[in-house]
Amino acid sequence: MDNKKHIAILGSTGSIGTQALEVIEANTDLFVVEVLSANSNSDLLIKQALKFNPNAVVIVDETKYQEVFDALSSQDIKVYAGKDALAQVVEMEDIDMVLTALVGYSGLKPTISAIKAKKNIALANKETLVVAGALITGLAKKYSVRIYPVDSEHSAIFQCLVGEFHNPVEKIYLTASGGPFRGWTKDRLLSVTKKQALKHPNWDMGAKITIDSASLMNKGLEVIEAKWLFGLKSEQIDVIVHPQSIIHSIVQFTDGSMKAQMGLPDMKLPIQYALAYPQRIVSDFPRFDFMDYPSLTFEKADADTFKNLALAYKAMNKGGNMACILNAANEVVVDAFLKDKIGFLEMSDVIADCMEKSTFVANPTYDDFVSSDEESRVLANALI
Ligand code: NDP
Ligand code: MG
Repeated sequence: MDNKKHIAILGSTGSIGTQALEVIEANTDLFVVEVLSANSNSDLLIKQALKFNPNAVVIVDETKYQEVFDALSSQDIKVYAGKDALAQVVEMEDIDMVLTALVGYSGLKPTISAIKAKKNIALANKETLVVAGALITGLAKKYSVRIYPVDSEHSAIFQCLVGEFHNPVEKIYLTASGGPFRGWTKDRLLSVTKKQALKHPNWDMGAKITIDSASLMNKGLEVIEAKWLFGLKSEQIDVIVHPQSIIHSIVQFTDGSMKAQMGLPDMKLPIQYALAYPQRIVSDFPRFDFMDYPSLTFEKADADTFKNLALAYKAMNKGGNMACILNAANEVVVDAFLKDKIGFLEMSDVIADCMEKSTFVANPTYDDFVSSDEESRVLANALI
């Protein structure tokens, strides 16, 4: 085998997946694509496979299998279909690292399987840590697997911690842009449309995370993600609104010193850092110019109007399967909002209701997460 890093990308046709492929394309001396996967976007998956010549591709939607198989039949590329194939393909011997860039709960099973196969993880799919943080971090420890954050805030924290060895963290500040509705009142939010919610001021991302950003659920999920990635307590994690999205997050140490990581908002940087760690590779990404941003500003997050942030803290503090319940309900309401079946503010009400009514399990196993996810989805759908 060569000394390049062999990467499997789960969710290669999405926003993170396509940007990861741009990073790989610019650094073919360092990286090789081993696996590509899509849910149903067969056209793009085929194009990517023809360009990057991976060992295998997975199309989750089984009705698209034949089309992908036929298009790649003259290539030496294995083609698999179905959900279970994702969890199997990550075990392939040649893979060094799995980039989890799929959306939501669907990332849980393949991530577990990748960790058990001792593959390091570049984690974009934050929902996996939200749903089952104790299980995932426990498995990573057991199998000596590293989890490198791709989320920009967590990459920032990770970068600030490099070289600090065992110096304890006093607290961290996750920055939030505040989304398209920053400063809006509840009254104004009542009639918000999906078109408005899908317009993020600073980042161009997939639909689900864009709605999560508008509702502040994304920041709530990130608080939980940070707890598990960095082993922090609830009171050590704070959120600060920073509309310019230049400071990506901040670590405060026990001597009061604060380290921040900053740069223009561009996901390629944290993706590249996770793939290449501990190396920093030369890039031609646009550079930050102080004169373009003469003032960087900060505000308190409005957790009264945007209830999701408070709900996420509540779920984290409760522990057990509560964050799994919150995540499942959120996936259902975001999907319903995107289909115009539910109002913007109603999303938080349904999530809060599911958290009240779902069965609480203090020490959940994998099977408990599966049934808990299912129960919360049924409840949320009934409430819409
Ligand atoms: P996208 O919606 O753009 O892409 C999702 C990818 O996952 C696509 O390849 C999609 O396939 C695939 N996919 C979707 N659903 C399933 C499923 N049920 N099973 C298997 N594959 C599936 O999402 P993003 O790239 O925006 O986000 C990916 C993850 O990264 C999320 O967890 C998000 O929170 C996180 N993240 C994203 C950031 C961003 O800038 N986009 C920033 C920080 C974190 P298909 O194309 O066929 O639908
Ligand atoms: Mg983020």
